[in-house]
Amino acid sequence: PPRRIRELAIATKGFMPPEEGDALWSAALEAGHALPGLAFLEVGAYCGRSTLWLAAAARECGTTLWSLDHHAGSEEQQAGWEWHDASLVDPATGRMDSLPTYLATLERAGVRDVVVPIVGRSRDVSARWIAPLAFVFIDGGHGVEPARDDWRGWGPRVAPGGYLAIHDVFVDPRDGGRTPHDEIYVPALASGEYRESSAVGSLRVLQRAS
Ligand code: MG
Repeated sequence: PPRRIRELAIATKGFMPPEEGDALWSAALEAGHALPGLAFLEVGAYCGRSTLWLAAAARECGTTLWSLDHHAGSEEQQAGWEWHDASLVDPATGRMDSLPTYLATLERAGVRDVVVPIVGRSRDVSARWIAPLAFVFIDGGHGVEPARDDWRGWGPRVAPGGYLAIHDVFVDPRDGGRTPHDEIYVPALASGEYRESSAVGSLRVLQRAS
């Protein structure tokens, strides 16, 4: 990816290791070239870290990145949980709100023209979504229900020949929670519709049959 975008991504709050971000970028590029004209979508944008790698790929392919998050933090990011960041709590409401930080990330990186933020719940958006997508990146809530909803809601929206990338796929439970593995990765392969295309760290990229 362009060096400046990559450096800004690495400096942004979030949990995507740089080598996985680079792999995400290259998978999205592949998808954009395979299916010109179709957009990308990410679920779970948080402060915009992974968004920047995907935005760089979207720009290069001349497409749009739909970037979805309710910005109220997933369960494991609420106060008292392991991934909580108190600096993202809105003092007016006492609730987590990653939207201001996220928008500032997009602004700083100059990617507002290729990224369309969607502030809402994944399940509500996927239920009304009709456009086929070249690339879907799922990095949303890691509870059983949100992960299951993300697979059921977004799996069918990946165009034939398109790609589905999943973050935090841990085969060994000692490395992290098993939900994305059990509720997204395994069902996708078991559907017979997807085959594995690449794997870097906990990032898995699957391609849908054409
Ligand atoms: Mg993640």
